Amino acid sequence: MPRPRPPTRPPSRAPRPEDDARRRLAQERGGRFVVGGPRVALVYPSPYRAGMSSLGFQWVLERLRQAGISAERAFLPDDVEAFRRQGGVLRTYETGTPVGDFPALGISLAYELELAGLVQVLELAGVPPLREDRGPDHPRVLLGGPLTFSNPLPAAPFVDAMLLGEADDTVVEAMEGAVEESRQAWLDRVCALPGGYVPERHGVDLPAIARADDTHLPARGPILAPEAELSDMFLVEGERGCHRQCTFCVMRRSTTGDGRTSSGGMRLVSPDALLSLVPEQARRVGLVGAAISDHPGLPALLQALVDSGRGVGVSSLRADRIAHKPEIARLLRAGGYRTLTVASDAASQRLRRQMAKGTTQAHLLACAEAAAEHGYQVLKVYMMLGVPDEQDDDLAELIDSTRALAAVHPVALGIAPFVPKRNTPLDTATFAGTRTVEARLERLRAGLKGARAEVRATSARWAWVEAELAQGGPEAGLAVARAVAAGGRFAAWRQALEAVAPTDRAPWRAAG
Ligand code: SF4
Repeated sequence: MPRPRPPTRPPSRAPRPEDDARRRLAQERGGRFVVGGPRVALVYPSPYRAGMSSLGFQWVLERLRQAGISAERAFLPDDVEAFRRQGGVLRTYETGTPVGDFPALGISLAYELELAGLVQVLELAGVPPLREDRGPDHPRVLLGGPLTFSNPLPAAPFVDAMLLGEADDTVVEAMEGAVEESRQAWLDRVCALPGGYVPERHGVDLPAIARADDTHLPARGPILAPEAELSDMFLVEGERGCHRQCTFCVMRRSTTGDGRTSSGGMRLVSPDALLSLVPEQARRVGLVGAAISDHPGLPALLQALVDSGRGVGVSSLRADRIAHKPEIARLLRAGGYRTLTVASDAASQRLRRQMAKGTTQAHLLACAEAAAEHGYQVLKVYMMLGVPDEQDDDLAELIDSTRALAAVHPVALGIAPFVPKRNTPLDTATFAGTRTVEARLERLRAGLKGARAEVRATSARWAWVEAELAQGGPEAGLAVARAVAAGGRFAAWRQALEAVAPTDRAPWRAAG
């Protein structure tokens, strides 16, 4: 989803965290804090601007509050080092209560590198990050979030329990139990829940992820937050899951869909139901879903939102959908988009075919034409380098095809090194290596000289860290704690992760 408005410009002197919290709460609209219920803290291991742009985080908060639980929020401070220097203690936004004083913490983890934030929020709350160092007076720690769809094992040393997969139906019971029951009774309860994982009992044998009943869908985030990355945007889930089969993707049908519905794994929300949930005060609406652009009602939905004078956002766009339904590009532009963003994912048609990615050069060219016709500033194309079996010829094709797109409209290639994820057909592939990825990036940049094409690449070194964590077990989590303690620079991560024994770097492989 694009970021149409940057967060508020930081003042010249860093404000105190409690000032940040007070200002942000005063700016927020929507949502309601429940007083008098069981008290829990929901902690996001990244700063406020990211946490409040997470539909999952907002939705869990809402589910808990709907159930009468007094759920308060806390976030990783914007500047962790400054917070430490000031001797700060992590507190909740709603009441300023120290996070360490709550009986139970719920933490949402989105991706591998946020494991560092998980360690930091616990430390800043005065809670020993490792479960084995905590006692009966410390809060119980329950973890969920997108990372649990793939490989949550590195988080195991830090938590008492996890809810794997869709926690819509289980999070209330699990959090209530954490507050009200003895530790063993609570862990018994979590073990019995779909997706309930208790590291001290299950070891590295993960139970199947949960699939929520559709009763409570769609997820929505009722709080409009001006300082969120998705500033002031009402987030609502237009569909859940994906009916496509891309072999590198955690969201493919085999993971989240049931294959029984007519849309083959997508759980659709009707446009009418969706529109009925949009609050009057919401001036911007973000439609969320792994395959939201495949929603058959999307053009009508966008039209209705644009006609009501609202800005719109979508969490992802498929190039073939834009090619076949160019009015989606027109409507997004009318709803405030300046960048048309699609994914190509692999350098050549051969690799895309191998990875079951249906995008073709013809689709991308249609996107470039739509971007030009509707006055977008740039066409952004997401791409991975270092995918299995990638050859020089594939890179040559990428250079040629990008030049062809750039001849139609300015292009920005958003490049991420390929990281093999667990629970995908490519989870036994290996990371290409930082040197290989960097060499290919260099060749790509050289090949695009003079074209209206910019290469924006994420770090190959941090992709290596991500790959180690995506495949690693609890020992990789202990390495995260050591890396954070050693200052958190890349060298510290490399030293800590390389010290993990090869058999512990992907324990599930050793176990067969
Ligand atoms: S990459 Fe996109 S289209 Fe492919 S399976 Fe994942 S969510 Fe679906």
